[in-house]
Amino acid sequence: MEEQIKNIEEISIKEISNARNEKELNDIKVKYLGKKGELTAVLRGMKDLSKEQRPIIGGIVNKVRDNLENLISKKGKEFAELELKRKLEEEKIDVTLPSNKFIRGSKHPLNRVIEEIEDLFVSMGYDVIDGPELETDEFCFERLNLPKGHPVLRGMKDLSKEQRPIIGGIVNKVRDNLENLISKKGKEFAELELKRKLEEEKIDVTLPSNKFIRGSKHPLNRVIEEIEDLFVSMGYDVIDGPELETDEFCFERLNLPKGHPARDMQDSFYITSEELLRTQTSAVQARVMVANQDKGPIRMICPGKTYRKEDDATHSHQFNQVEGLVIDKDITLAHLKGTLEVFMKKMLGEKTKLRFRPSYFPFTEPSYEVDVSCFKCGGSGCNLCKQTGWIELLGAGMVHPNVLKMNGYNPEEYGGFAFGTGLDRLAMFKYGITDMRYLYRNDVRFLKQFDQMDI
Ligand SMILES: [Zn+2]
Repeated sequence: MEEQIKNIEEISIKEISNARNEKELNDIKVKYLGKKGELTAVLRGMKDLSKEQRPIIGGIVNKVRDNLENLISKKGKEFAELELKRKLEEEKIDVTLPSNKFIRGSKHPLNRVIEEIEDLFVSMGYDVIDGPELETDEFCFERLNLPKGHPVLRGMKDLSKEQRPIIGGIVNKVRDNLENLISKKGKEFAELELKRKLEEEKIDVTLPSNKFIRGSKHPLNRVIEEIEDLFVSMGYDVIDGPELETDEFCFERLNLPKGHPARDMQDSFYITSEELLRTQTSAVQARVMVANQDKGPIRMICPGKTYRKEDDATHSHQFNQVEGLVIDKDITLAHLKGTLEVFMKKMLGEKTKLRFRPSYFPFTEPSYEVDVSCFKCGGSGCNLCKQTGWIELLGAGMVHPNVLKMNGYNPEEYGGFAFGTGLDRLAMFKYGITDMRYLYRNDVRFLKQFDQMDI
């Protein structure tokens, strides 16, 4: 086998050195190294060799193949160089030879005339205008007083010079007459059509109208509007605040610094560590105090949506509060009591009584839970009031001096009161709604009931 390989090597080396061009060289490459080449065939035959012989023969074949590949590549480069040299010889430029003559055209006599005319008229201030060569009938004839069927376009060319203007005049007259008649008849048709339409579309005002289905006001909006009307009549402003609130306004400026235990009462939806969906409308109180630059008296209410992480029959993750804030000199608890009495009597009936119980809120001092007498049993005890005769409805108190100070007021000079209540609970009591979640389900059948219920 070794001998066979040696033979192949010798013959192929001779063939490579005798190759006369690129093509012959390529043929040699295919003959020995190609897929069906002789050296490749030797490699295929190795499967019949013993284990010991295989690496030896394999090594020899690889060496021969590398050698042949090198020789072929070298020869290939030689051919490429020769080819380049030949081309450079062939394409050499002799700069001493005369150049080809450049044949130049000449201006057409028509263009000469056109240019002369243009130059003349431009020198007299005329414009030179171009138009399309493919023209419409309208611009080519009609707009030049040559309507369709005009004799100039047809038979007139056969008439004598004298007859032409006479016949032309008659034709024009007849044409004008016909056009007038056609236009008149057209107008008559249009009038008839209009008359027909008016007849057809007449409205019979004695027929019953289609029923217009009207929506109804949401019970929460009814309650909010009633409260707003009441407080506006007492000289309060109605203020709106953002629902996405900062920790600063929702808590810190209301005497609830970070880590304050009273924050635990309000499970909150935090968006970032500094922003949350407001848990109470009290945030608006702080905003109004800060915004009031002359630090004078304030009288305002702020109804709006608030959010806490809770959801059952008496709690919703979204609910509504209204808060009131009064800041002025010489404000006492009597003012708070009087205000809440007017408020509750308007909402729940003239017989409503109030009960103040001491409580704790961080932003008021003293603080109170305010109960109203049960409007269902009148105070004798029932299911609604859990047999106590009272319903807990409001939180209230005198504005804490810290809150005044933090928001720019001098607590030595100014005082105030604040109160707040859940609008959802108020609406539930007022309209006898048993589950708070009904308020947020947008069920038209539910909402329709309140149309006739205003008291
Ligand atoms: Zn009761």
